[in-house]
Amino acid sequence: MLNIILCGAPGCGKGTQSALLVDKYTLKHLSTGDLLRSEIESKSEVGILADSYISKGNLVPDEMIIEILLKKIDTMAIDAAGFILDGFPRTVGQAEALNKAFEERKNKISFLIDIQVEKKELITRLLKRGETSGRSDDNLDTIKKRLQIYDTKTAPVNDYYKALGKYHAIDGLGEIEEIFGRISIIIDAEMNK
Ligand code: ADP
Repeated sequence: MLNIILCGAPGCGKGTQSALLVDKYTLKHLSTGDLLRSEIESKSEVGILADSYISKGNLVPDEMIIEILLKKIDTMAIDAAGFILDGFPRTVGQAEALNKAFEERKNKISFLIDIQVEKKELITRLLKRGETSGRSDDNLDTIKKRLQIYDTKTAPVNDYYKALGKYHAIDGLGEIEEIFGRISIIIDAEMNK
């Protein structure tokens, strides 16, 4: 199985690139942000709780998101060639839980791709997205908070995969197709190893 983590700050283009990768490599896309937003939309108990974190720009607690993700993985795994994990893991605790859960399922993470985009550009993109997304977290104060949390909580996830020899970084500035090309080069090289 090919299990790829797409990592990068909010607004780096993980969702856009995931959609293209799913088509090219017939992988299944798992976005924890999407899973949480669908819980919020259905006004489930989990969704109401998640919303209280997300709308303030905070991460939802590790135990909560791990449970949601594993449930989803187990329902999707049967006929999957692999997964694109988008927005997970976002803390080292989540990375450790993911490792353990995959080991238990006789599976493993192949590698992580870090999409790097400078802060100023991220803020511009997220404010623009906020004009149409209707997302409660796409406003300037919350964006700044999310970027700060990315630096303190999520950036260490990159180091975790670096230590495992499973880390790749790409420049996330440029045309969508160009960035997709950069990601594809890494995946093709890894597949031919
Ligand atoms: P973005 O990458 O633009 O922040 P996402 O859709 O990936 O957007 O996530 C939106 C919000 O959902 C995050 O700010 C966070 O509050 C919550 N969230 C998503 N994934 C996780 C996760 N793995 N752990 C904790 N919270 C998460």
